[in-house]
Amino acid sequence: MFYDTTPFTAENSGYRIAFRPGEQNVCPGCGQSHWTIGRMTAECAFCATALPINNGGSFGAGRFTVKSLAA
Ligand SMILES: [Zn+2]
Repeated sequence: MFYDTTPFTAENSGYRIAFRPGEQNVCPGCGQSHWTIGRMTAECAFCATALPINNGGSFGAGRFTVKSLAA
C-alpha cells in the first residue's frame, strides 16, 4: 500500500474554485450569478452549487489577536 508522506502545499494544488466577495462570481454548475451567501460558503440560487468563500484567508484557529487597552 502506498502512503503519500509529502506535506500538503496549497500553492502546488492547482486552481481551487471559490466565491470571492465583491466580485462577479459565475456559478460553475449553471453559469448564473445569483448567490445565497452564508458564513463559510456561498450557494447558487439556481442549482445549489456550494462554493467556499475566499475572503483572504483571515479566519481559522490562532488568527485572533488581543489588543491591550493601555491607558
Ligand atoms: Zn448554479
